Amino acid sequence: MDSLRAARYPFLSEASEFAEANSEGIEKLLSSETYAEARERGLARVMGALDNHTIPENSLSGEYNRLMEVLSYPYARILVSCVGDRLLLKRYALAEAEHMNHILTKDPDSVDLIVKELEVNATANRDGTVDMHFADFLRFSYVMKAVEWKLINSDIHNGFVTLPRDKFVRLLQNAYRLKIESELPLNVPDDFRKDLSSNLTKIDLALSAVKTRLSPTGGQGMNDAYLPPCIRTIIEMAQAGQNLPHSARFALVTFLHALGLEYSQIIAIFAVSPDFNEAMSEYQIKHITGELNGTEGYTPPVCSTMRTNGLCFDPDPLCEKVKHPLSYYRIKSGNYQRQPKE
Ligand code: SF4
Repeated sequence: MDSLRAARYPFLSEASEFAEANSEGIEKLLSSETYAEARERGLARVMGALDNHTIPENSLSGEYNRLMEVLSYPYARILVSCVGDRLLLKRYALAEAEHMNHILTKDPDSVDLIVKELEVNATANRDGTVDMHFADFLRFSYVMKAVEWKLINSDIHNGFVTLPRDKFVRLLQNAYRLKIESELPLNVPDDFRKDLSSNLTKIDLALSAVKTRLSPTGGQGMNDAYLPPCIRTIIEMAQAGQNLPHSARFALVTFLHALGLEYSQIIAIFAVSPDFNEAMSEYQIKHITGELNGTEGYTPPVCSTMRTNGLCFDPDPLCEKVKHPLSYYRIKSGNYQRQPKE
């Protein structure tokens, strides 16, 4: 068993075997002084993912460091599972996947093993390229918006897409991210929580700060004075009982949801309308916000889409500086911050 590889890729089956052979089980990991270093590294994995989208790079020299690194991985997963927050889960999965990509690009000998572990249907060619089954290509490239990732622009033969190795590793990153997202949250027994409580509190505080930072309202709730003209007009139309096209309802609900308004606050805006239909509004709002199917819901349309849909009403001078109604709100409220990757 290669302990260095286990520490670099702690999701591998051989990493679990390494941990099982050299440690004393999950209860000891959570509480024994022997594993304090693993817990510290595990907490750092979660905090790094939350704060700056990275997994810290620790020393992997010697068996002790490698074991602590391997054990930090299940500990981090337990922490993320106990917090049970979707934003945290997504950030954690992305950071772990990017971390794997970062290591794997410098360690081509491990690619085949990762492919097998992630159950990706792909085979390496002698010239360094990789053939990936088109179904996996589509599954793992669907979030890549650049035209170079479109199947139509790919080199495809007999159902397999031929990719340069760096692009293939980028898709492995997506495969790993999806795997983590599908596995978490774990079902953590209540008995474990008392040993986790101080670290869970630290994560809760950091998560709350991140959410406030991300909120277009800075966590202050919606202020009508900062609304862009398009949204203000759509609200006025809704409250006057005008028949809103679906695109306008969609734009309004996604915008309000992005501001952090709850279902009850959103439906209250529609409820003022003279022909308010509660059942229909409830269904539409919960569908758009993802509450019906347990997703994150849709994102609000950009200004160009609003224009195409005839919803860019009375743009003012600030509109010339923005490409998104949420940017308008952020700038007007003085809460504008550049936040990469949000
Ligand atoms: S430019 Fe954008 S923010 Fe301004 S009214 Fe049009 S859609 Fe709304």
